[in-house]
Amino acid sequence: MGRRSTVDVVSRLYQIQEAVRQRAEEVVANHPSWPCRKGCDDCCRQLASVPRVTGEEWQSIAAALSALSDDTAELVRRRIRESADAPRPVICPLLDRDSGTCLVYEARPVACRAYGFYAEREYVLGCSRIESIGQQFPEVVWGNHAVLEDELRSLGADATLPEWLGSENRGGVPNLRRLQISLLCRERAVNSDDRRPLRTPAMAAGIADHAWKLGELPA
Ligand code: SF4
Ligand code: SF4
Repeated sequence: MGRRSTVDVVSRLYQIQEAVRQRAEEVVANHPSWPCRKGCDDCCRQLASVPRVTGEEWQSIAAALSALSDDTAELVRRRIRESADAPRPVICPLLDRDSGTCLVYEARPVACRAYGFYAEREYVLGCSRIESIGQQFPEVVWGNHAVLEDELRSLGADATLPEWLGSENRGGVPNLRRLQISLLCRERAVNSDDRRPLRTPAMAAGIADHAWKLGELPA
């Protein structure tokens, strides 16, 4: 397969995120007692390893970090760097340890969106709470985590958060540029699914114009 354009990769990532979101929402809607919710952060505090993400996921996370206050962003970047040598289990460097919430929630990795709603063969992928609720509700149709991982691999190479941060410090793609392109691609992905547009046509046109000038859009 040839190299995918940035537009293709961002659009595909958005479609994957949407598919995971829909599955999670459906499960929670049908089982209101489902335990995954804001502030339930055991999974974020007991990672088997530092999160690995694709380049496009990292671009979203980096943009979200840039939107935090300077002090918080610096604290998180320091934690990301330190996480390279952290012993297991790892506390995610993107976690707000006081509130138990994700500091980059809208940009969180696909693995985090899927956790608690997908399965690896016959095993539910989740914490002990999810495993027990899984036995309680055997009718839940779990997402296929292996397929999800294949989808992510098709987006390009992955790396750990400290590896991406290190490469950015050595001169990565400017976040603003990637963010603009990302917004445009999301707009397209949403429209192509015939969903309600996220932005006004004027905003979409402005983003498209910006991306066009950057030479990132196909003719
Ligand atoms: S996977 Fe477990 S710890 Fe994580 S949000 Fe769901 S119930 Fe809470
Ligand atoms: S990125 Fe956010 S949701 Fe994922 S493990 Fe870290 S704090 Fe939790």
